[in-house]
Amino acid sequence: MDNFHQADFFEPLKDLGVRCRLCPHFCLLNVGQTGICGVRKNINGILYASNYGIVSALHLDPIEKKPLYHFYPGREILSVGTIGCNLFCNFCQNWEIAHPQNDLFFIKKMNPDKIVAKALAQKNNLGMAYTYNEPVVFYEFMMETAQLVHQCGLMNVMVSNGFISPLAMEKLLPSIDAFNIDLKGFTNEFYKKYTKSELQPVLDSLKLIFASGKWLEITFLLIPGANDDINDFMRMIDWIAEQLSIDVPLHISRYFPNYKLNTHKTPGEQLEMFYQKAAKSLSYVYIGNYASIARNTFCPHCGAELITRNAHSVLNRLKAGTNICPDCKKIVYLVN
Ligand code: SF4
Repeated sequence: MDNFHQADFFEPLKDLGVRCRLCPHFCLLNVGQTGICGVRKNINGILYASNYGIVSALHLDPIEKKPLYHFYPGREILSVGTIGCNLFCNFCQNWEIAHPQNDLFFIKKMNPDKIVAKALAQKNNLGMAYTYNEPVVFYEFMMETAQLVHQCGLMNVMVSNGFISPLAMEKLLPSIDAFNIDLKGFTNEFYKKYTKSELQPVLDSLKLIFASGKWLEITFLLIPGANDDINDFMRMIDWIAEQLSIDVPLHISRYFPNYKLNTHKTPGEQLEMFYQKAAKSLSYVYIGNYASIARNTFCPHCGAELITRNAHSVLNRLKAGTNICPDCKKIVYLVN
């Protein structure tokens, strides 16, 4: 299979140049040039995605690993990634596939039909998650797969940095059922310095997703010395509460040194302090990559423990197919 696939969202310019309008970098590319993401190339005036069907990982994962804690808790989902990314986070946890330096021996070529056949072959599989590297840069492959997945009656999940143009996001929304979006910090300085991108387009994506009614959870990776100003964090919490909803689940994730950043891992006390602060304003806050009760779901009305999670199991007290707290009978913001 040819891994070069004509890209969506490009505008032809004079002298065979093109403008890519998929993400807010809006790269201007002359013939032969490749975009900032490293996987979209102008070949004779046509923009191509060079990572179409280039599968770097395909695993059946717990939905909690995405992380989505309120979208069919306890279920598994087949998860696929390719290569490339439109951000350059110096703390990237998946840099081998986001910014590959050499040929990757584990790459497989697979078309959407084959991926969907795998999804259908898995017992009790919820559907497909587009994850591991940034799905925005494998947009066409994701969209074609997602449409087939919907035709088969399964669900689609996108795990993304949210750095996508509003036009591309709007076209994507009907095909994706649930999103986990990284909100990596709450200042433009942080986004510029640590990711080589900008904050506002991510906020715009969050608002578009929430307004569409699609399922949304947010992940914030807490990095000591980089995005751990408590005032910025509280501004983020206020923004979520005011612009989205206090019911949008927030995952505060523990950082471990990786790639180009060698800061020490996030201390447990710091994670707990941020968790306590956020939980004063938001209904559902979690700590990820860290063993504590802050990975369990509690009823925001009566405090009952509804879902207990540990490394290998998810114990759900909610009746299948319902989102009513068994103790106080009030609605919990969750799809079960
Ligand atoms: S998707 Fe790639 S080529 Fe297109 S604007 Fe973003 S970085 Fe540039």
